[in-house]
Amino acid sequence: MRATPTGSFSGGKMNQMSPVREYFHNIWQTVSTILIGMRISLKYCFAKTVTLQYPDVAPALQPRYRGFHFYEIEKCIACDLCAKACPVDCIYIEKTGPRKLDKVSGIAAGGLMTRYAIDYAKCMFCALCVDPCPTDCIHMGNIHDMSGFNRESMIVEFTELAKDGLQTPQPLWMTKEKLPEWAATRKKEWTEFANSNDKMSHDREARRVAMGDALADNA
Ligand code: SF4
Ligand code: SF4
Repeated sequence: MRATPTGSFSGGKMNQMSPVREYFHNIWQTVSTILIGMRISLKYCFAKTVTLQYPDVAPALQPRYRGFHFYEIEKCIACDLCAKACPVDCIYIEKTGPRKLDKVSGIAAGGLMTRYAIDYAKCMFCALCVDPCPTDCIHMGNIHDMSGFNRESMIVEFTELAKDGLQTPQPLWMTKEKLPEWAATRKKEWTEFANSNDKMSHDREARRVAMGDALADNA
């Protein structure tokens, strides 16, 4: 392969670097770009270590943190756009027929959702599934913690969660009765749909009914 000449233009002429100068120039470029890239990592290498007593203390998540999804089944029209956008094909959607959003109520009707599942053994939390959604019903959530005993347990069946009135998976330890205060508050937010921001925001019972309607045959 022929090497591309290195140099700069001055007065319409190309100023060629001498081979020795080019050699050291390349070394400098390599080292400086690595250092620029490593600047943040190096900063954290020498930062004071902070130990967070999780789960007694809430994890410090940034506002734009991308955790396990929350999914509003009652608004989903099963259009598959999220699944098509997913670069690793980890969203599985099954329905009995097309669904359409009622603009007045904000609820989808038509066919039933028989499956909406995400395989978290493959998901890379890129959020590419969120933007194409025409009804704004799939979102990145605020849970970072999920454990299981095999790969199959990493597949979250959101339609099964919806039967229990849930929009997002819960970490196993959060199903216990006694929880730290922050976890109990977050759990309450999930069951009261605090993350949903739409026409039914204040009507929890209507939302539960609509969730049941979306998968009535499965109930
Ligand atoms: S976050 Fe990315 S990888 Fe995960 S389901 Fe969405 S598109 Fe797929
Ligand atoms: S979550 Fe959104 S994009 Fe995905 S199938 Fe439902 S409506 Fe379509």
